[in-house]
Amino acid sequence: MKVLVINSGSSSIKYQLLEPDTATVVASGVVQRIGESVGDGAPTIEHSCDGRTFEHDGPIADHAAGLRLVFELFTESGHDLAAEDLGAVGHRVVHGGEVFYEPTLVTDEVVRAIADLSTLAPLHNPANVTGIESARALLPDVPQVAVFDTAFFHQLPAAAKTYAIDAKTAAAHGIRKYGFHGTSHDYVSHRVAEFLGRDYADINQIVLHLGNGASASAVRGGRAVDTTMGLTPLEGLVMGTRSGDLDPGIIFHLIRAAGMDVGQVDDLLNRDSGLKGLSGVNDFRELGRLIDAGDAAATLAYDVYIHRLRRYIGAYLVALGRVDAITFTAGVGENDARVRADALAGLAGFGIEVDPERNAVRDRSARRISSDGAPVAVLVVPTNEELAIARASAALVG
Ligand code: ADP
Repeated sequence: MKVLVINSGSSSIKYQLLEPDTATVVASGVVQRIGESVGDGAPTIEHSCDGRTFEHDGPIADHAAGLRLVFELFTESGHDLAAEDLGAVGHRVVHGGEVFYEPTLVTDEVVRAIADLSTLAPLHNPANVTGIESARALLPDVPQVAVFDTAFFHQLPAAAKTYAIDAKTAAAHGIRKYGFHGTSHDYVSHRVAEFLGRDYADINQIVLHLGNGASASAVRGGRAVDTTMGLTPLEGLVMGTRSGDLDPGIIFHLIRAAGMDVGQVDDLLNRDSGLKGLSGVNDFRELGRLIDAGDAAATLAYDVYIHRLRRYIGAYLVALGRVDAITFTAGVGENDARVRADALAGLAGFGIEVDPERNAVRDRSARRISSDGAPVAVLVVPTNEELAIARASAALVG
C-alpha cells in the first residue's frame, strides 16, 4: 500500500508518495508561490520521481490548481495516482486544538472543525483545509487522514500547559500551551529508544528540533512533559524569522510607542524577527558564512540563538531530573556541528559531553556524538515527518 502525504502551507504544497512499510519514497515534490504572479523563470512545481525531475513553470492560481498540476506530473512520470495502490492520503494539520489528538479520518464534520480552529492558527489551518478539500475532490474514493502537529503534546501536565493569566479569559478563548512539531518529536523520540535499544517508556529525553522553525521538548517515559512552542508556533526558541520568547510588554510598546497595528506586529514577530531580524539572513548556512567573515550582527544573532537554546536545555534537565538522551534533529540540528557543540558546551558536570570528532562526521543516519562513557547519550537523528504521517494514516485505514 502507498500513501500520499500532503503538507499544505499558505503559499506552498509539499508532498510525498511513499510506502509506509518499507519507507520507500516513490515520488516527492513541492509547489511554490501559489497565488503569486511569477515571471522570474524559477519553476513553481518541482516533482522528483525515479531519479528524474519534472518541472512546471508559470503561475498557479490556488491550491486546487496546484494539486491538479501535481496529479498531471504524477501521470507524466509514470505514476497515475488513480491507478496506484493508494491506501490513503495523509494530511499534516498544524492545529488540532483541544478537539483532535489522534490521526483522524476526514469527514465533512472534521473539515469544518479544523476550519473552526483557524482562530488559533490563522496562517496554517485555512491552508490545511484547502489542501484537504482539493485532495478529496481529486481522489474522492481514497480515505483522507488528518495528522495533527499538536497531538503529541495533548497530555502536557497542567502546570506546563497553563498560562498564568485570568483563568476565565483563558478558558473562553482556548488559551493554553498546545505545542507544535509534535509529529517530529514523536517520531524522533521513538527512533531514539530504538537506537539505544531501550524501552520507550523507560527513558527520559530532550529533543531539539532545529529547523527554520525550532522547538524543544522534554519527554519523560514516553510522555511529553514540556515543550517550547505555545498557543502558536511563535513561542520559545529563536527561529529563522520568528522571535520566540519575548516580554509581552514589547507588543504594547510597539503598538503605543511605534504606532504599529496588530497585523504589523504579527508580521514583525513572525516574519521579520529571529535570525533574519538580527542578521538579515534566516538560513543557517548563510549565517555561518557571515560569522566566519567577521560579521558582528550575524555573530550576535548566533549568540542569542545559542543562549536561548541553552536556557531551555537547562530548564528541561531540571524538569526531567534524569536525562538519558539529548537529540538534535531537523535541518540545523542534523547538519550544523557548531550549533550542537555550542548548545552543550561545558556541561560535563551534568554527564553531557560531545565528542568533537563524532560531532564533525557528516552522515544521513542516526548516530551518537557523545563521548564513550558519558552518562547522557547525545544523538543526531534525522526526522521524517512524512514517513510518520504515512504510517499513522496507513495504521488508521488498516
Ligand atoms: P523547516 O522544515 O522548518 O522549513 P528544515 O528542517 O528543513 O526547516 O531546516 C531548514 C534550516 O536548516 C535552514 O535554516 C537551513 O539553513 C538549515 N540547514 C540545512 N542544511 C544545512 C547545513 N548543511 N548546515 C547548516 N544548516 C543547514
